[in-house]
Amino acid sequence: MKIDILTLFPFMCESVLSESIIGRAREAGCVDIDCHNIRDYSTDKHNHVDDAPYGGGTGMIMQAQPIYDAYMDLTDNGNKEYHLIYMTPQGKTLTQERVKELAKLDNIAILCGHYEGVDERVIEELKPEEISIGDYVLTGGELPALVLVDSVCRMLPGVLRNDEAFEKESHFDGLLEYPQYTRPPVWKGREVPEVLLSGHHENVAKWQTEQSLERTKKKRQDMYEKFVENDNKN
Ligand code: SAM
Repeated sequence: MKIDILTLFPFMCESVLSESIIGRAREAGCVDIDCHNIRDYSTDKHNHVDDAPYGGGTGMIMQAQPIYDAYMDLTDNGNKEYHLIYMTPQGKTLTQERVKELAKLDNIAILCGHYEGVDERVIEELKPEEISIGDYVLTGGELPALVLVDSVCRMLPGVLRNDEAFEKESHFDGLLEYPQYTRPPVWKGREVPEVLLSGHHENVAKWQTEQSLERTKKKRQDMYEKFVENDNKN
């Protein structure tokens, strides 16, 4: 998969994406990620990329032209197929379901807004998918883009040690994950559940499924009800 991030702060994205699991996945060639500076496409003699909003109001708005030119350069004037995403608090909230679908695409471009956002006309022109990471507002689209990239990349073949690593996790099949423990077997008087030390794989799997259902019911009633409803349909 190829992911291209269009941003005014490429180093902010690059520094995170060079570390840990995603950094290693890039080195191993599991995913190819490039961060592009929108400012490089400014035609203004002072390299400006933003201006005051028409109609008044505080803050600055990112101008349409540098964003459009950056995307045209990336896509070879629209000849290269890309799925463009604009990170915005006005978009649909990101879910694991959408992450699974995005992980099947070949080329994703992500536009990060900043300041008060971007000129609406470039959104009308490029028609990106609008994705939010939650109902709150951040200063820029870089952190949301990194959340999206991380969630998509960990589903790509070879990024995690095996697919089970994400298939058994919270949200993959509509439930939360069961509780996990590691050494020592007793800590501050709290014991690891006996079944996990039994070596009986069937019993362990049964316990994990029960725990998964129980904690989803306790922590996320909404998810639990949806899961039961879907289960009854199947
Ligand atoms: N004025 C905009 C509004 O009220 O809808 C918010 C602009 S926000 C301060 C600046 C940029 O941060 C946005 O263009 C977007 O790229 C990004 N952003 C902020 N919150 C976000 C969120 N919850 N999800 C995704 N992107 C977000």
